[in-house]
Amino acid sequence: MNVQDTIAAIEALTATSNGTDLVTKERFDVVNPATGKVFASAPAVRPEQLDQVFADAQAAFHLWKRDESARRDAMRRAADVIEATVSTLARILTMEQGKPVAEAGSEILSAVHWLRYYADLELPREVIRDDADGYEEIFRRPMGVVSAITPWNFPVGLAMWKIAPALRAGNTLVVKPSPYTPLATLALGQALRGVLPDGVLNIVTGPDPLGAAMVAHPVPRKVSFTGSTSVGKKVALGAAPDLKRVTLELGGNDPAIILPDVDVDEIAPRLFWSAFRNSGQICVAVKRLYAHESIKPRLVEALGELAASVRMGDGLQEGVELGPVNNRPQWERVNDLVNDARSRGARVVAGGETAGDGGYFFRPTVLDAVDDSFRVVAEEQFGPVLPVLSFRDEDDVVRRANDSEYGLTASVWSNDIERAAGIAAQIDSGQVAINQHARGLGPHLPFGGHKWSGIGVENGPWGLYSFTEMQVIAGPARMTG
Ligand code: NAD
Repeated sequence: MNVQDTIAAIEALTATSNGTDLVTKERFDVVNPATGKVFASAPAVRPEQLDQVFADAQAAFHLWKRDESARRDAMRRAADVIEATVSTLARILTMEQGKPVAEAGSEILSAVHWLRYYADLELPREVIRDDADGYEEIFRRPMGVVSAITPWNFPVGLAMWKIAPALRAGNTLVVKPSPYTPLATLALGQALRGVLPDGVLNIVTGPDPLGAAMVAHPVPRKVSFTGSTSVGKKVALGAAPDLKRVTLELGGNDPAIILPDVDVDEIAPRLFWSAFRNSGQICVAVKRLYAHESIKPRLVEALGELAASVRMGDGLQEGVELGPVNNRPQWERVNDLVNDARSRGARVVAGGETAGDGGYFFRPTVLDAVDDSFRVVAEEQFGPVLPVLSFRDEDDVVRRANDSEYGLTASVWSNDIERAAGIAAQIDSGQVAINQHARGLGPHLPFGGHKWSGIGVENGPWGLYSFTEMQVIAGPARMTG
């Protein structure tokens, strides 16, 4: 499919409710971050339309929850359908999000992988007691309708972290992607019409107040949210009046700690891509790097050389390694943080400026001569900028790594694995990886943040259970079997 065909497909995209088009009076603009120009529009679902969408999802729930084996089959069919449309979905994703199209394809394939993982996951019965005196078993009951709200950095992948476990557990969903990246999720919804029963997976798009309305609406029993910490707090407040369950996957300011015994030239490329992939717009990107003072000069130099050599451009072009920042406010924020650091004496080793002709490009930037008080170190930059700091003493670097309101992921790099593991155990975050940042990401492992990085976890059986309520059924021995 060429660009014109892709745009034609995009223009036909509508919201999905009850397996069909949800008619909207208005649409909103979608900008291609590689050009800075509007290239498509998406339906602006009005908050009052949610009454019908949630009613349909609620009606679908009563059938969907009954037959687990039918659910697993439908999820496998959904995975096959998505797999067959990877290239179209990937192009749409690149045009709205900016990432290189090969990475967009990997994101779509991750959605396929997550669906299959949850379809195949065996959930053991949880019999607590089964003897002459009685029988006790724990059941995990689906909650009902789920509101799922996602950000713009991995719209399809992160939506599937919610959709797959929620469906397997027997819930139905209303999903809302970010207004910056509505299209690939709309396309996903259209592709799955007729594959999943009507009303089971509903996709709505619109500006931020639509998300707030999905949190406040009386029908959903659970809100699963991925996004910024500031909005996550609003979601927690919005869900509180009727005690909706919440899972919040929020911001991070991930430290990587580099011990003096590493092979700098060997780790530099891996560290670089841990910070800069998707132009640094990954919740688990390395956001501040603490290198032992003995190796820091060489590491800074190596990272600077890599930053200067990266091919940045429109993600649809072959060979492009880094796309633009996704949207203008984020691009301006990255520029502000770098200018703030520069004004305070930071040394710009590479990058440090915007680039391109109209698009939201920012050259991959390595900053030296910064300290922990710089905004670019203390705040989540969420862009292609890496501040490099030095340390001498392990206790000191642990204290500095933990001196953050965030606690999403971290990494420790050393040839001495035991020593690295000892430091990892002292870091207050949901995951600490050794010799690779975010090594422990997969459908089978719990993912979630400590402190302001979130509440609850996604993925694995733990993520599935978060879409259920526990129920104990206890009775006399004769219940057995
Ligand atoms: P955001 O919080 O601005 O928006 C996320 C979603 O929330 C969007 O769909 C938005 O429309 C919606 N929204 C906005 N206001 C709302 C409200 N009052 N009530 C309900 N929904 C509302 O985040 P973003 O800028 O799209 O994404 C970037 C942030 O996401 C970063 O902080 C990043 O760290 C975080 N993130 C976290 C994870 C994780 O798993 N922990 C993963 C990816 C991104």
